[in-house]
Amino acid sequence: ARQSRGRLLDLHREASALFHAHLLTDPACEHARNYLKQRGFGKEMAERWEIGWMPENPEVFLRWARERRFTGKELVGSGLAALKDEEKPAAGLYVRFRDRLMFPIRNEIGDVIAFSGRQLREDRRSGKYINSPETDIFKKSNVLFALDKAKKAILKEKTVILCEGQIDAISCHEAGVENAIAPLGTAFTAQHARILKRYAQTAVLCFDADSAGVKACERAFRELAPEGLSVKVVELPPGEDPDTYIKAKGVDSFRALVESARDFFDFKIAFAKKAGSLDSAEGKASLSRDCTDLLALMGDHASRDQQINVVASMLGLGSATLREGIGGAVKRAK
Ligand code: ATP
Ligand code: MN
Ligand code: MN
Ligand code: MN
Repeated sequence: ARQSRGRLLDLHREASALFHAHLLTDPACEHARNYLKQRGFGKEMAERWEIGWMPENPEVFLRWARERRFTGKELVGSGLAALKDEEKPAAGLYVRFRDRLMFPIRNEIGDVIAFSGRQLREDRRSGKYINSPETDIFKKSNVLFALDKAKKAILKEKTVILCEGQIDAISCHEAGVENAIAPLGTAFTAQHARILKRYAQTAVLCFDADSAGVKACERAFRELAPEGLSVKVVELPPGEDPDTYIKAKGVDSFRALVESARDFFDFKIAFAKKAGSLDSAEGKASLSRDCTDLLALMGDHASRDQQINVVASMLGLGSATLREGIGGAVKRAK
């Protein structure tokens, strides 16, 4: 059912304040406060990001909503609740988040439009994170966590740091690196790239140093390059993410890593070399085909020209050969 946008925004704003009040004062969530402390986050961080807690007992939230005159339809429309039985609305409501740390997700101008809930006990039965479903006010593919807080710094530095998770983006900001954002556990989309294009010329990818992170780099490049953004990649030590890195090594060391981020192709080819993909003629041919297709995607033709020379010399090919291949790939893509 379609809801009035104003009511949905009211519900999200008030619910976020409620969850935050629970986190700060509810005797039932000592474990949530300890969790944050143990991860190195203080009260100021919780206040700046309006981090909250959703009680284990769903009645607490449902009672609050009734008192505030939010209807069942509105709760379902927000995704915070769902009907227990679609056929029988009288059967009541099921609350989506339980005993979770609640991260409000904001749009570009700072309105709360959704939540991401992190589990507090390692529990394999439910996902580590649960996000609000898509609603009338929340479309995952065009929301970037922390963009409301980061946009000024992104514009100023013309550079955006793209992290994998919201805790990574939060850790960056808390350490003073304010141009960091994160997509919401979904693949980076063309829509995300179009949004970032309005603020940045360069995207520095700072994904987790695991196999998922490497794949995510190429997926992000495929969306960012056509928009003309230049793409760089930070290599974290194996197993680290920006949050753990900043906590272990300090923010100056993190800034140095970001400063020394490599161009996407440099990163890709070096990674393939390390993996042994260049040891055979077939491997080399397949990597050069990959690079050709990726170069063909680049919207900024001046930097494409420059990257062609870099790729050619790294692969030991003539740049004229590579250029011909790219001409073909561009035609195929059209
Ligand atoms: P933490 O966020 O507590 O530091 P982590 O670094 O181990 O945990 P990852 O597994 O690296 O988390 O996940 C990074 C991001 O991916 C998360 O911040 C979240 O946005 C998203 N994510 C992870 N697991 C899920 C899930 N089960 N459902 C939806 N999104 C998820
Ligand atoms: Mn990861
Ligand atoms: Mn992490
Ligand atoms: Mn991680």
